[in-house]
Amino acid sequence: MKLSYREYVLRLRHTFAIARGSVDTKQVLIVLLEHDGIVGYGEAAPSSRYGETSDTVKAFLGRVKLEWFDNPFQLESILSQVDSISEGNYSAKAAIDIALHDWMGKRLGLPLHELWGLNRTMTPQTSFTIGIDKPEILAQKIEEAEQYPILKIKLGTDDDQSIMSTIRMATKKVLRVDANEGWKRKETAVEKIKWLEQQGVEFVEQPMPASDLDGTAWVRERVNLPLIADEDCVRYHDVPRLQKAFDGINIKLMKCTGLREAMKMIHTARACRMKVMLGCMIETSLAITAAAQLSPLIDYADLDGNLLITNDPFIGVRVKEGKLELPDRPGIGITEK
Ligand SMILES: [Mg+2]
Repeated sequence: MKLSYREYVLRLRHTFAIARGSVDTKQVLIVLLEHDGIVGYGEAAPSSRYGETSDTVKAFLGRVKLEWFDNPFQLESILSQVDSISEGNYSAKAAIDIALHDWMGKRLGLPLHELWGLNRTMTPQTSFTIGIDKPEILAQKIEEAEQYPILKIKLGTDDDQSIMSTIRMATKKVLRVDANEGWKRKETAVEKIKWLEQQGVEFVEQPMPASDLDGTAWVRERVNLPLIADEDCVRYHDVPRLQKAFDGINIKLMKCTGLREAMKMIHTARACRMKVMLGCMIETSLAITAAAQLSPLIDYADLDGNLLITNDPFIGVRVKEGKLELPDRPGIGITEK
């Protein structure tokens, strides 16, 4: 097995701002895994929130010794070895996991959802994210998002009420809220969520800083909206302890090391009677389509990272009136533009 990579700089349509900062571009790495005349594609979209940059991804990939393995179907052995190289490096690990799955599907001539026994008509609708912005830009973004029936609103600022009021004036759509750990005091979180309950919001993602599970549990006892863990939920061993504070989890391939672990997390969450959301970073259609292959299993999709960029190098999953439409090509199902 041979591993190589290409670097890309993705350009955002609008400056993308959340509670902890803003970006105009995003660096990703596309990984190519070649074996027996077939090339599997993977992607790493590193997040500084989890200690990664494109340099850490390159350094990690340099330590991966895939030539030790001669059978890409042995995902459990290969990915366990890759995971053991060092802690963290989630997106770098995800790139290898995705490439192996793509290779396997291509070799068998089957799309991943078929390989997993999933019904492609059972995909959910994805939300479309509206980042933090000035009122006039928010109104423009709402207009641009016309074709998406569910919007995910980034909050966690001192201007939350005016952001929500601007958006609610512009649309009657289902709204989901992501505070990105922005409400530092539990009393503030309760107050904000109680107000959001009257704004037709479906759920709130990560209201409090990750690791303040007791604070989040205190908030949950006092509000009616479901709470979804994002920054608190990285890998599958995080899931059971989140039950006491959250109603569901947000799984991202770039946090959890890839599709194989994401599948484990879905089943672990179900065993804990929790809701499951699939989210993303700013990514190309490659990683988004890989995640979408799992989406017939989940409750909520937030797979819009590819819709926020202007130079997506790939074609894969499509969105029709919000609903994810999976390609029927083998593997992940992407092609280069
Ligand atoms: Mg989030």
